[in-house]
Amino acid sequence: MQDFVPDQVVVNSAHFIGGVYVDGGSNLIDVLRPSDGHVYAGLPVADATLVDRAVENAWHAFKTSNWATQPPRERARILRRWADLIEADVAVLAPMEALGSTRPIRDAVQWDVPFTAEGIRFFAEFADKHGGEVAATRSDHLGMTISEPYGVVAAIAPWNFPLVMASWKIGPALAAGNAVVLKPSEMTPFSILRVAELAIKAGIPAGIFNVIQGDGKVTGDSLCRHPKVSKVTFTGSTQTGAAIMRACAESGTKPVTLELGGKSPQIVFADAPDLDKVARMVAAAISGNAGQVCVAGSRLIVQRGAAEQVVAGIARSFEALRAGPTWQQATTLAPIISKGQADRIDGIVNRTIAAGAQLVTGGALAPRTGNGSYYLPTILAGVNSGMEAVNSEIFGPVLTVQVFDDDAEALTLAAHPDYGLAAGVHTSDIGRALRFARTLEAGTVWINRYGRTSDFVIPTGGYKRSGMGKDLGRQAFEANLRIKSVLIDFAE
Ligand code: NAD
Repeated sequence: MQDFVPDQVVVNSAHFIGGVYVDGGSNLIDVLRPSDGHVYAGLPVADATLVDRAVENAWHAFKTSNWATQPPRERARILRRWADLIEADVAVLAPMEALGSTRPIRDAVQWDVPFTAEGIRFFAEFADKHGGEVAATRSDHLGMTISEPYGVVAAIAPWNFPLVMASWKIGPALAAGNAVVLKPSEMTPFSILRVAELAIKAGIPAGIFNVIQGDGKVTGDSLCRHPKVSKVTFTGSTQTGAAIMRACAESGTKPVTLELGGKSPQIVFADAPDLDKVARMVAAAISGNAGQVCVAGSRLIVQRGAAEQVVAGIARSFEALRAGPTWQQATTLAPIISKGQADRIDGIVNRTIAAGAQLVTGGALAPRTGNGSYYLPTILAGVNSGMEAVNSEIFGPVLTVQVFDDDAEALTLAAHPDYGLAAGVHTSDIGRALRFARTLEAGTVWINRYGRTSDFVIPTGGYKRSGMGKDLGRQAFEANLRIKSVLIDFAE
């Protein structure tokens, strides 16, 4: 894939309900290209009436199509065909994804599009590979469990990896036989519509996968509260997760899956296998997607003897990054999603410096393309756990550095009062690595690596305020099913 010309990418600005594009809703929201701040479309906001239409369509399709009732292998075959179509569509889909998000085209081609397809393929495999339990409860009684889809699952997605995050929601829900109404982020709403078109082409019945556009307050809230939505699966901020849980509690005690924010530590011991390689990993884990990653390794906790070498190595990796628009192949440092978010990052960095932190590198907005915003990868040393940059989820390329002397101190620094999404431990001492893995309060612990590549089978999800339930893995599939117990008396 070459560089692409942003003005040549055409998007549909509509909802996708019952297998067709639907206009309607009020309040056009300006949708910007993060790379240059250019407004390239207006987004219709679905009100409660339109949300109702989408959910009713989904409910009708669930009840009247054979999506849930057909042999599960057939459902799996259709989902695999969908995944193949998505993968084959990379030349159209990748520029669409890159245009409206922070994903540079090189990443969209190599990761976002193929991973979206592979995520759907992964969950398709579960469709016919799960069963229930059978128990002979008495000699003339039998009990069994049957897993059944919920009906309509509402999925609400964030903007940081628009396609991949959506696929982690819709893949398991559809594979389990549900119908889905997805609300993408109002900042990155369009690429998923192309995926919805391909769903119809693959043979998914109209109405089984719907997309409604809009904001959180009106569209998202109405969707969560709709009486025919039986489960909500959400990825986004901890604050929104709490609002969604409240809406689900108030509108029918609906089960929720919540993948929320984080402030993940990367712990580096002086005996780590290769400190220069570790430095490159630590740098990548906070500069990838310009730090706009839920599991961004935003807090370096490094043993005193290794601190100088590791920090110098990270700074070198940061210098090699090239900020630029997402439509250029050469871009390796993504733009920040909005000017407001870039200013927020800068504010946190400046306040933390004013509170006594030392700026090692970065600490400012990078040169702009048009009205796009880029933030220089930043290292703040000499920080303590009370400082804002150490405590808040920044969602930008900002790494804080804390130095430790022994294991107990490393564990104390690593613990965050609220978040527990992920952690990294770099050491040659496998015993220590495993002790840390057991002790750290985090949903994922990486040892001598950081980040997720193709480990679909291992679930992801947070402890504490980082979430509830899992994406990926068998667990994500099972969370889209409810269990019915059937008890039989066959005595004469
Ligand atoms: P956000 O919470 O602002 O928005 C996420 C989605 O929720 C959007 O579609 C938004 O429109 C919708 N929404 C907002 N208010 C709502 C409401 N009251 N009811 C229903 N829907 C509502 O998050 P964001 O800024 O899009 O994404 C960044 C956040 O997502 C970060 O905190 C990041 O850590 C988190 N995230 C977590 C994971 C994970 O797997 N744990 C993955 C990616 C992102």
